[in-house]
Amino acid sequence: MTNWFDSLADSILDGGVITEGQAVAMLATSDADLLELVAAGSRLRRTHFGMTIKLNYLVNLKSGLCPESCSYCSQALGSAAPILKYSWLKTDEAVKQADIGIRGGASRVCLVASGRGPGNRDVERVNDIVTRLKDAHDDVEVCACLGILKDGQAESLLEAGVDAYNHNINTAESFHDTIVKSHTYTDRTNTVAKAKSAGLSPCSGLIVGLGESDEQVVEALFALRELDSDSIPINFLVPFDGTPMEGQWNLTPAQCLRIVVTARFVCPDKEIRLAGGREIHLRSLQAQALHVANSIFLGDYLTAEGQAAEDDIALIRDNGFTIIGQEAGPDASRPPTIRARGAGTTQGANA
Ligand code: SF4
Repeated sequence: MTNWFDSLADSILDGGVITEGQAVAMLATSDADLLELVAAGSRLRRTHFGMTIKLNYLVNLKSGLCPESCSYCSQALGSAAPILKYSWLKTDEAVKQADIGIRGGASRVCLVASGRGPGNRDVERVNDIVTRLKDAHDDVEVCACLGILKDGQAESLLEAGVDAYNHNINTAESFHDTIVKSHTYTDRTNTVAKAKSAGLSPCSGLIVGLGESDEQVVEALFALRELDSDSIPINFLVPFDGTPMEGQWNLTPAQCLRIVVTARFVCPDKEIRLAGGREIHLRSLQAQALHVANSIFLGDYLTAEGQAAEDDIALIRDNGFTIIGQEAGPDASRPPTIRARGAGTTQGANA
């Protein structure tokens, strides 16, 4: 028997669109239907992206010390999370860090700085970094993520060689003011629009697990479709101790997967990126998520560590995907480890 979401995938492949009601229903499908749901989403993914994965690499140019009040963020004013805090990296150090990610397989570097938005001097700093990066790696995409943009700043970044600008809407407009008070949802969408109209590729996504309803997840996904965001990072809340979201674990791995599939149905031909929190929320379902998403971050995040980069690469290759720009790669097989614990030894068992 064909599931309704299989028929919906057929219809989308024929040029149809999902309705908000169907998207909400998709988020409420049962765990028993999960693999079939993933299979339906993977048909849309393969139509637009084949079996490729884009690897992105984050460089946090400035960490913490932010005057804004985003309650999910470990870098926000009032956050007591014991994260790294530093002001702008020197250009040499930023280029060196980006280079490490590129050598690790990333084809896109995301240059991020905490704060409400950049001053013109900050944009110049980033432009210097981008010029150096593009001189060394002209095929690597650069995305800047510096906060709310003022007039003219997007044009300056574009001129320096920046390809894309990230500014997440983060959540539904109807939920936004519950999680942040120091700027508005419209401030966020205006910046995405500014980047787009300057000619930068708009990158905007969301964070799930903040306490929003399924309807609000869908509201945010439809807003991203409306914004025509080329890439859509899906972040899963990392509830750092010392932030207002401390201890909030509202997601299950299966629900995270349903959200990724729903995003694919709403925006079938857009880059869907598994972003912060994927390891701790998707957990053993990361491989299934790759059949629907087509992009991930390699290694670490802005303030949280990710799984080992070699595990990211193995996850991708073991599941039959190819990394854009790294089509040939080393064999990820690992030699067996001789058991030296448990029965017959004096070491504790692996249980
Ligand atoms: S999300 Fe950005 S603007 Fe908000 S507190 Fe964090 S660094 Fe500041």
